[in-house]
Amino acid sequence: MHKITKATLALHDLGRCLIAERHLSAIRIISRGLVCAQHGDDYKKNEVYDVIISGGGMVGSAMACSLGMDPNLEGKKILLLEAGNKKVMDEVPDTYSTRVSSISPGSATLLSGIGAWEQITKMRCKPYKKMQVWDACSDALITFDKENLQDEMAYIVENDIVVAALTKQLDSLSENVQVKYRSKVVKYTWPMPHQAAESIPWVQVTLANGETIQTKLLIGADGPNSMVRRNLGIPTVKWNYDQSAVVAVLHLSEPTENNVAWQRFLPTGPIAMLPLSDTESSLVWSTSHRLAEELLELDEESFVDAINSAFWSNENQSELIETAGSVFRGALSAIMPFAGSPRQLPPSVAGIGPKSRVMFPLGMGHASEYIRHRVALIGDAAHRVHPLAGQGVNLGFGDVACLTQLLSQAAFNGKDLGAIQHLLEYETERQRHNLPMMAAIDLMKRLYSTNSCSCLCVRWWFLQKLDMYPPPKSRMPTVLLVLEYK
Ligand SMILES: Cc1cc2nc3c(=O)[nH]c(=O)nc-3n(C[C@H](O)[C@H](O)[C@H](O)COP(=O)(O)OP(=O)(O)OC[C@H]3O[C@@H](n4cnc5c(N)ncnc54)[C@H](O)[C@@H]3O)c2cc1C
Repeated sequence: MHKITKATLALHDLGRCLIAERHLSAIRIISRGLVCAQHGDDYKKNEVYDVIISGGGMVGSAMACSLGMDPNLEGKKILLLEAGNKKVMDEVPDTYSTRVSSISPGSATLLSGIGAWEQITKMRCKPYKKMQVWDACSDALITFDKENLQDEMAYIVENDIVVAALTKQLDSLSENVQVKYRSKVVKYTWPMPHQAAESIPWVQVTLANGETIQTKLLIGADGPNSMVRRNLGIPTVKWNYDQSAVVAVLHLSEPTENNVAWQRFLPTGPIAMLPLSDTESSLVWSTSHRLAEELLELDEESFVDAINSAFWSNENQSELIETAGSVFRGALSAIMPFAGSPRQLPPSVAGIGPKSRVMFPLGMGHASEYIRHRVALIGDAAHRVHPLAGQGVNLGFGDVACLTQLLSQAAFNGKDLGAIQHLLEYETERQRHNLPMMAAIDLMKRLYSTNSCSCLCVRWWFLQKLDMYPPPKSRMPTVLLVLEYK
């Protein structure tokens, strides 16, 4: 029943975004921003910005750079507020950080356009050309690659390096973008959506040090527990998965070219090994909370054994699926002798980086509205996904590209940046992109979290079919493992 309710809500979201949006605009414009404003004349004394971005993680920092570099926004007052310290990196540390992201070529293009990608590649970044995904319960396998194996499929980059590169770029944009670190927002006061005597004109932001500032447009980039989203009372479909991700830096048994990302679906959840260098990879092992806790408690040798066995062991293979599979494969290979990819073997692991084992509870969340009067949500503040498809921050960078383009156009046309018309366009465009992707990721998580025979068959068929028919595979938006935002 619980699942049905969630699914209904998710479908409601999807439907909401697909209905003829423009016809609904008028109603939505009126209905947004109905959170009560507090007022007084104090606001008149406070500094007014054109745009304030709340939250300087990977997505908020990229947003600040992107706005700061846009020629149409020159002269606008832009401020980035980050609760944490400034993340400078004078030298790249010898050891790898445990938090890494798979950055799609689309995101790399965005980061390149805002001057951060060059910094990232100078610091540390590992491209990979192929991804092999296979099921622990059968022989089914799919290989994702670019047709000619010349181009990179995606890049593994440490999150700290992405933020450090963006921070450096923000330093060089200090004339266009002001940044306040260690500046936690503790209160927001919202204006009314229509002219009212008792309404303040702009969004009012109060910092922990007592300072109050105002903005014509607030961009909430404050992560999955977004205070902006919660304070506005934006309805959010969310649930915690019964899983946590254990991450660690892995030392490989021997040096290899290491240009393949590996992911195996175990009955308890997916385990992924992402390349960092010729000798190191990054582990993202999504599993039950109980097993995750046990994995953290293991001594290093047993932990390494558990990883190797998770990638190599055949103990979960189902005889029934195997038999059905080999009959199907036999029939297919008779008609398509060259179908399917050759199976490669993942590298074996010899050790882990010191103190690199950490776990994160996993969940999914989607704000049914990305905007309100003078407010837009981006990144995890608007949507949070399971890491199995490596899409979280890529979706966020897609938000940045879309919102920048619409704000730039608004500025060019001399429009108010906080006006709801172009914010609605942002919401429509991004929800149309993000929702199907999120639904596919959630479906994938559910399909691979069961041992029921019918699901095993669907899984086997799904991977096998995708691997044998290259055209759908290279048009992956239909599935989820595409690593590009459109
Ligand atoms: C195990 C794991 C693996 C993942 N792997 C991938 C991957 O391979 N590829 C991928 O694309 N994604 C991946 N993701 C998802 C990705 O990490 C997130 O989508 C991304 O970090 C979200 O960035 P963000 O800037 O939106 O939010 P956050 O990183 O949460 O940043 C929010 C920022 O806001 C600041 N903040 C919060 N509240 C306030 C306040 N009141 N005032 C001021 N500042 C505030 C915080 O200090 C923080 O810096 C993974 C996630 C996990 C858990």
